[in-house]
Amino acid sequence: MKKALITGVSGQDGSYLAEYLLDLGYEVWGLVRREPETSRWLAATAHRIEFVYGDLRDEESLAVAFQKAWPDEVYNLAAQVFVPTSWECPAETFDINVGGFARLLRIVERQKPDTRVYQASTSEMFGNVEANCNEETPFNPMSPYGTSKMAAHRLAAVYRNRGIYVLGGILFNHESPRRGPEMVTRKITRAAARWVMGDRVKLKLGNLQSRRDWGFAGDYVKAMHAMLQPDTPNDYVIGTGISHSVEDFLQQVLTELRKICGSSDVPRSIEDWVEVDTQFLRTGEIHNLQADSSAARNDLGWQPSVDFAHLVKMMVEADLASLREVLGAKTAG
Ligand code: GDP
Repeated sequence: MKKALITGVSGQDGSYLAEYLLDLGYEVWGLVRREPETSRWLAATAHRIEFVYGDLRDEESLAVAFQKAWPDEVYNLAAQVFVPTSWECPAETFDINVGGFARLLRIVERQKPDTRVYQASTSEMFGNVEANCNEETPFNPMSPYGTSKMAAHRLAAVYRNRGIYVLGGILFNHESPRRGPEMVTRKITRAAARWVMGDRVKLKLGNLQSRRDWGFAGDYVKAMHAMLQPDTPNDYVIGTGISHSVEDFLQQVLTELRKICGSSDVPRSIEDWVEVDTQFLRTGEIHNLQADSSAARNDLGWQPSVDFAHLVKMMVEADLASLREVLGAKTAG
């Protein structure tokens, strides 16, 4: 039975990946900083995961965790991922995203150099590019977050040259009902659920024209696993190839809400629901990100199964259901 160690196992990607690897028959080890019961997403699978405590900033704790898990594959998903926070805390962002990965690689090289390592790289490394980005597109990050991920991605390449099996999966934005509430998609779907349940507060957002290639996280974790299976390691770009604006996302949410609820419960228009608040506008904004993942499609046979409309529907339905559950519990209480 293969063993996998996942850092960031309690997050969106970590929890989907754990479920996927368990289904494939893996023994899954999850690195956590606190009690895994605090992660809702692990509720269904926690009993099947071996948890080890550790922090990417603390090499000793990582070394002990690694020794316990003794993994065939490591998926380094733990990170500080929010662009605005990376401006607030650039040094901490680097310590986790670059330092943490450097600590992990050193441990792999010293303890078990045949371990295969997946690094969560990101489309934020590309910055503003006119065309769809592939593995050859030059990096031009626009934030401390993007820069930290580029540094880690480069570090993977130099360790690869030293003989370690390590690669960076350059994943474009991937969302789900488990997405962090600070990211724009989930911020919108949660606000939509609150509106339908009677909380008619305007939703404050930043740039509605910026475009992202949004896919479904559950599809993307399959690509992570597929990338680690070939004999030689290669970086791959993963995305749907289609971008939408934040405004498109809002419009799609309204479309879904109208199908689910009576129109009196749904905002009449984006203008009635949303206002632009300059605090959410970004310096160094990336205006459009769009993937060319033909290499992954050809070499790994990977392709997304969930399109934009389906993704929005999934997120809206989940946030409506969980808010109804919370309100129902309050009423019952
Ligand atoms: P990112 O691509 O990793 O930065 O993912 P986000 O979900 O944080 O942001 C995606 C895009 O939505 C960016 O271009 C943001 O500027 C834009 N955006 C507009 N309003 C908001 C907002 O209120 N919150 C966030 N997080 N992003 C916003």
